[in-house]
Amino acid sequence: MNNSLFVYNSLKGKKELFKPILENYVGMYICGPTVYNYVHLGNCRTFISFDLIYRYLKHLGYKVRYVRNITDAGHLENDEDEGEDRIAKKARLEKIEPMEVVQRYTVDFHDKMDKFNVLPPSIEPTATGHIIEQIELIKLIINNGFAYEVNGSVYFDVLKFNRENHYGKLSGRKIEELIHNTRSLEGQNDKKNPQDFALWKKAEPEHIMRWPSPWSDGFPGWHLECTAMSRKYLGKKFDIHGGGMDLKFPHHECEIAQAESIENISPVNYWLHTNMLTLNGKKMAKSTGNNILPDEMFNGSNNLIKKPFSPMTVRFFMLQAHYRSIIDISQDALEASEKGLNRLKESLTTLEKITPSNSTTNFDMVAWKESCYKAMNDDFNSPILIAHLFDAVKFINTVSNAKKQISESDLHILKETFHHFYFDVLGLNIKTHSDSINTIQLKGVLDLVLDLRKNARNSKDFKTSDLIRESLLKLNIQINDSEIGSSYKIK
Ligand code: AMP
Ligand code: ZN
Repeated sequence: MNNSLFVYNSLKGKKELFKPILENYVGMYICGPTVYNYVHLGNCRTFISFDLIYRYLKHLGYKVRYVRNITDAGHLENDEDEGEDRIAKKARLEKIEPMEVVQRYTVDFHDKMDKFNVLPPSIEPTATGHIIEQIELIKLIINNGFAYEVNGSVYFDVLKFNRENHYGKLSGRKIEELIHNTRSLEGQNDKKNPQDFALWKKAEPEHIMRWPSPWSDGFPGWHLECTAMSRKYLGKKFDIHGGGMDLKFPHHECEIAQAESIENISPVNYWLHTNMLTLNGKKMAKSTGNNILPDEMFNGSNNLIKKPFSPMTVRFFMLQAHYRSIIDISQDALEASEKGLNRLKESLTTLEKITPSNSTTNFDMVAWKESCYKAMNDDFNSPILIAHLFDAVKFINTVSNAKKQISESDLHILKETFHHFYFDVLGLNIKTHSDSINTIQLKGVLDLVLDLRKNARNSKDFKTSDLIRESLLKLNIQINDSEIGSSYKIK
């Protein structure tokens, strides 16, 4: 196993050598979606980034327990414990059961993850499935003196916690600024201090998502579910916890405070945060409407990006940036990614046709392979890895044009490494544009269309043959005519 992996730890603000608690085992918890709406491409970016990380850890030989939750209760409309539960609100607006909302958007989320070739986690727990565990944690926090009950709700006492610990260690927020900046909202008079956060909220009579507890019929605060579920499945201290940068505060800061108030040990060794996907320079978000849905991208129905792009092109586009950099999505950038991905795909085909020679290789294959690992070992630097794959593409093309040679053993290293990184680590499969069409059927149909076009050309019916070519091109299928016949390429 290559054990020189460095990861950027948000808690320390620097890259650190990755050393799991148990040798060869990794416990990783990633905050999953709140299933009250369709996931947008920004959400998908975060889950694709952690998929890359999960895949690389597995590729290095670690046995990874990957927990990614589904938030199906407790996430209120804003971060100050105010507003309606997002799922309950959607259910009220659509006049359906909250669990119908949860089901609909969980199914959509899984479908999108599957399209993007994101591997399922080892465990996908839900907040509503862990109410008892959350209530037990609240009891412990109250017993330790870091939470108080008022009118059936329970709040975490941030000031008291900060006297003995450090609230703000992850996000860098200063308690004095928080005291100054936190709004005191109407209906929040129960809190001793506005920066305190809810562990349990008493449900108003009209609130349908409610559970019995020692304090009231109510529901847990949003931050608690992740503490409860990570402790349950990964233990009091585990290796990696991640999510988007926007979750650092308050969500992850509160998770740290909850865990430390129970056990006084830091719950997570490495905090990893992905940067945002932006659209027109602004964060893609459900709430502002500044977003694109995956389906709009796949069928080209969005006003901003009208050309359809396949899930793999979008995945590749995202992986061409480092997970900690902001990326702005645009048609030009996607078109460039589409071309790049096609070059890689073509190389895979070319690679299969190359025959080795007895002479030495004009390319340092071992150094190239090392550089691929070096890129990924440097905080999962996928853009650098992809640049190395393109170096290999250039070499593959020169060998294919018989300008350079490759030995049998180097060809083996090249194929194996290219495949490992392309398929296993970057997770780029060769799915066709429309996942609903079976590849074999599609191939059969295209072969038939090429035959018909050939007949048309033979009988000098160029109108028909051109029409076929142009129609296929509109579907991103390009026909290439050569002396030995016609072939097609799905872009
Ligand atoms: P939510 O369903 O809102 O809780 O978000 C699910 C995940 O998507 C969280 O980890 C967020 O940080 C992440 N996320 C939300 N918006 C974006 C964005 N524009 N770019 C990248 N990740 C995002
Ligand atoms: Zn979480």
